[in-house]
Amino acid sequence: MSEAIVITGARTNNLKNVSLRIPKNRLVVFTGVSGSGKSSIVFDTIAVESQRQLNETFPTFVRNRLPRYEKPEAEAIEHLSAAIVVDQKPIGGNARSTVGTMTDISSILRVLFSRYGEPSAGYSFAYSFNDPQGMCPECDGLGRRLELDLGAFLDEELSLEEGAIRFPLFGVGTWQWQIYARSDTFDPAKPLKHYTDAERELFLHGQGFSVAVRGKNGTLNKVAYEGVADRFTRLYLKRDLSELSGRNREAVLAVVSEGVCRSCGGARLNAKALASRIGGHSIADYGAMEVTDLIAELGRLDYPVAGAAVAALRRVEQIGLGYLSLDRETSTVSGGEAQRLKMVRHLGSSLTGMTYIFDEPSAGLHPADVHRMNSLLLQLRDQGNTVMVVEHDPQVIEIADHVIDLGPGAGVHGGQVVFEGPVAELTDTLTGTHLRRRTSIKEQPRTPSGWLTVEHASLHNLDDVSVRLPVGVLTAVTGVAGSGKSTLIGQVFVAAHPEAVVVDQGAIAVSSRSSPASAIGVMDGIRAAFAKANGVKAGLFSFNSAGACPECEGRGVIYTDLAFMDPVTRTCETCEGRRFNAEALSYRLRGRTIAEVLAMTSEQASAFFADAGAAAIAARLRSLVEVGLGYLTLGQPTSTLSGGERQRLKLAGELGRTGSLYVLDEPTTGLHLADVEALVDLLDRLVEQGNTVIVIEHDLQVIRRADWVIDLGPGGGRHGGRVLYEGPPAGLGEAAGSVTGRFLRS
Ligand code: ADP
Ligand code: ADP
Ligand code: ZN
Ligand code: ZN
Repeated sequence: MSEAIVITGARTNNLKNVSLRIPKNRLVVFTGVSGSGKSSIVFDTIAVESQRQLNETFPTFVRNRLPRYEKPEAEAIEHLSAAIVVDQKPIGGNARSTVGTMTDISSILRVLFSRYGEPSAGYSFAYSFNDPQGMCPECDGLGRRLELDLGAFLDEELSLEEGAIRFPLFGVGTWQWQIYARSDTFDPAKPLKHYTDAERELFLHGQGFSVAVRGKNGTLNKVAYEGVADRFTRLYLKRDLSELSGRNREAVLAVVSEGVCRSCGGARLNAKALASRIGGHSIADYGAMEVTDLIAELGRLDYPVAGAAVAALRRVEQIGLGYLSLDRETSTVSGGEAQRLKMVRHLGSSLTGMTYIFDEPSAGLHPADVHRMNSLLLQLRDQGNTVMVVEHDPQVIEIADHVIDLGPGAGVHGGQVVFEGPVAELTDTLTGTHLRRRTSIKEQPRTPSGWLTVEHASLHNLDDVSVRLPVGVLTAVTGVAGSGKSTLIGQVFVAAHPEAVVVDQGAIAVSSRSSPASAIGVMDGIRAAFAKANGVKAGLFSFNSAGACPECEGRGVIYTDLAFMDPVTRTCETCEGRRFNAEALSYRLRGRTIAEVLAMTSEQASAFFADAGAAAIAARLRSLVEVGLGYLTLGQPTSTLSGGERQRLKLAGELGRTGSLYVLDEPTTGLHLADVEALVDLLDRLVEQGNTVIVIEHDLQVIRRADWVIDLGPGGGRHGGRVLYEGPPAGLGEAAGSVTGRFLRS
């Protein structure tokens, strides 16, 4: 077996004929500024090729059922091992997937209860909310149920004849309505608010007798009476809503609300499973405890199965997620938490000789938690695996056996390996110099021009938090993972201040037909400039309408999915990838076609439009350069941009505004140390222009340069949720119990 993965002549995306030897059974960290080509080599070349080669080993009929991968652009990729990508994609929205089910710790606890629970409910499936043997029959194991919302369903001011039942399918004149309004059971002209208690009960829940309903032509129909609330529940809530037509489903959803299941109280299990106890606790009690507390609880038991559960729980704690509970739905965890949970699953496996690929595993982690995550990366390596990590965090780069630094710049200015070797020798590149540089704490913070407040916030782990957020300055909200930052700012504050502009990594629409130029709103101006110069209609210069190449419909590429081979994307021969038809390409502006202009970087294009006298377009394009995206071409599809690039693209569109309130959740994710500096410069500019900026951040560089810091803690989950410090960054070092303060000092 070879000791290195060998890549020769890689040209994926911006890579410039890259050749590399990546040592096996080592921890290899890939660094470089955002857009330098790290993902292009690690994900789009190595991971894709590994998956493709793996698929080729399957018989054809299996292969046809697997996703197919295009061969990456490279001369040769040799000695690959099977690769597992542990990324930050959300785990998924299924309500049956929880932290416990995805880490498999739930199944260990089920075995524990089936053996030692008193009284035992049966074997282990009797404790599973995903199995008919264990699930609560009322909510089918979801813990939540849709219930009729009477306030929305009825208008108490009106009588039946005036339309007191607001639900259209029971509306005036319908058969359902006739049961109540045309059966002499109620006075159809009496407003509901004047019903006696007995009438109301009869109206909502009555049953056990028959009524004669008068039809339109005087006919009498005898039917069994059923109260309106029960009738609605039976007809609509006892069956799968997805069977209803779109309009009817919307009508139902308008009069129901989701609440905790009354039968199981949200525990998801049936009565038999919930009655079974160990040390006074049910399996649902265990599920609701924070992992750290559950470890202590199970530590008191001396059954071997409890030991296995503790070992698995320790891995969750070690990776900085001790504040989660096993019953937490995976759809509510953040991207960084999702990645770490996936990591836990692999740490328990005994596979060796694999290649593990991580995408910025430090994302969302406080500096205090990074070293614990590091030890898990090293553990994977020591189990005999190759571990590749795309990372910017100095603490992670430090533990690498081998560093591969890409650059020197981004996009067309990057795509080369500028350093490969042990971390101690990484000195001269941009990464090397930044690793050795330190920002100092802001000495003279700006003075706030006013205050925004949050009062008595108690969501999730927040413990009656009241806090002031300064207007007109840069505020950093800090604290270890799980301390309550996103809850306080992303949920409570933003809900109370609806004017806030939330700039997250999903802030820009992503498609193959939108681009940096359309995102900052210059496409109309560019089309108008072409139209004016040539005396034709502006629509001709759009590949989404009149200007589209007829062969590829403006995509520039033709995608062929061949049944028995890898799919092939080839450049459209008619337009040669330019996306426009011949007529559109026959017109020019200062000697350039529209396709040539869209192929310019924003740096080149802003100079071009300044020369063309289009000052407004040039100024907007400068904003791209100012946010560090000068290397992107005007027409590059937003679907190919990284999360960090999309976030900065959104900021570029905001430059020049004033009086706005911006909220950014960990804007340094995906950013190189050099990019972080540029980002803080940019945030400073936004503040100088008269805006308020609030960032949730772990990055010490950002915290040091903020005007105001709000530190939450001291720990995560139940151990957090309090404000430890509010004030200028210089005072944070002295804040009692603040982990952030301790790191800022050291
Ligand atoms: P990094 O991971 O270092 O941030 P990437 O490898 O994602 O950088 O991107 C390198 C360059 O290639 C960037 O300029 C990016 O915009 C560009 N790029 C990435 N994916 C595509 C694609 N599918 N098509 C065209 N350009 C791409
Ligand atoms: P931070 O942003 O500081 O990492 P969060 O605000 O995400 O912290 O989490 C604070 C606490 O609230 C944690 O215990 C977390 O598990 C809990 N929490 C966050 N979101 C949810 C949710 N959607 N449902 C239940 N608990 C949540
Ligand atoms: Zn239930
Ligand atoms: Zn074409």
